[in-house]
Amino acid sequence: MKQVDLRNLSIKELEDFALALGLQRYRGRQLFHWVYGKSVDSLDMMTDLSRESRELLSEKAYISKLCEVRRQCSSDGTEKFLFELEDGHRVESVLIPEEDRLTLCISTQVGCGMGCAFCLTGKGGLARNLKTSEIVNQALSVQKGLPAGKNLTNIVIMGMGEPLSNYNNVVKAIEILNNPLGPAIGARRITLSTAGLVPGIKKLGEGNLNINLAISLNASTDEQRNLIMPINKKYPLKNLLEACREFPLRKGRMLSFEYVLLDGVNNSPEDAGRVAKLLKGIRCKINLIPFNEFPGAQYKRPSEESVLRFQEILTGHNYSVFIRKSRGADILAACGQLREEE
Ligand code: SAH
Ligand code: SF4
Repeated sequence: MKQVDLRNLSIKELEDFALALGLQRYRGRQLFHWVYGKSVDSLDMMTDLSRESRELLSEKAYISKLCEVRRQCSSDGTEKFLFELEDGHRVESVLIPEEDRLTLCISTQVGCGMGCAFCLTGKGGLARNLKTSEIVNQALSVQKGLPAGKNLTNIVIMGMGEPLSNYNNVVKAIEILNNPLGPAIGARRITLSTAGLVPGIKKLGEGNLNINLAISLNASTDEQRNLIMPINKKYPLKNLLEACREFPLRKGRMLSFEYVLLDGVNNSPEDAGRVAKLLKGIRCKINLIPFNEFPGAQYKRPSEESVLRFQEILTGHNYSVFIRKSRGADILAACGQLREEE
């Protein structure tokens, strides 16, 4: 029998697994706590299980971990991790320290199939989806390397890949990360960013996750969006914004819209005016991301002046608008600069 990776199992699945081994159901919860809460990498460390149970377990199961191939530190404190998976593929995660939080940006796919014209991850296409274990292990592995007393406070699912096209594995990973017996990252401190897969947005809204949703808008007309985000041909702005309007928001919560500013493409004052109109009536904030350049990129980062003007116009329409600092750009760790290998 092929061994089961415990890091791929939800709490319910671990309970069933315990039962199938002839153990009591509550042992499944204990396993969950060991595997994700205490984050042990070896079954031998599960000291509240009898030696017999541990032996039985080690015949049937193992605990996967990622191999850290490289860690780069940016001059601004951002750190980029390169992990190797069991089949040799590689993914990146980015740790972003701020005064009051420690955010990890995690990947959900090796590469990405969406083909956005401004994104380095999209250049090589999609190799494969990440398994739940590979998504959760990014967080567990980085947490392990932190100095004592330091903990990850926030997770952003904005690394390599389109999370909603790997829906089941990503949602299972979120449930694990959120579980109080596991890493216990609060739902309000988890944000998922999507290029705009409408069915996925609807499904996410019907679930009960209560995480934050960010939508990469990036254009003010369909014509423009079709050119830079091929997914727009399948789910044009009208459908996308309709799904956003229908997305259930708890009291005090907002959607986020990301807008990558590409000089001479989507950053005119007219664009800002159209964005204001498109988002009218949606409880949201807007994050402007001045284009992060990478070798071979066909776009340019706009001047600071034009970024501020874009912000001003939207602020004038009563939106909260933030300009995303490009953290870690010197080590290609900023938005849209992640890829499988150097
Ligand atoms: N696939 C998801 C999440 C990963 S991309 C999505 O597209 O939302 C995360 C964010 O980086 C997106 O908002 C995307 O528009 C932005 N991005 C991609 N390439 C970029 C680049 N070169 N410069 C700035 N932002 C970029
Ligand atoms: Fe994929 Fe997001 Fe990059 Fe588009 S911006 S190619 S969806 S990772």
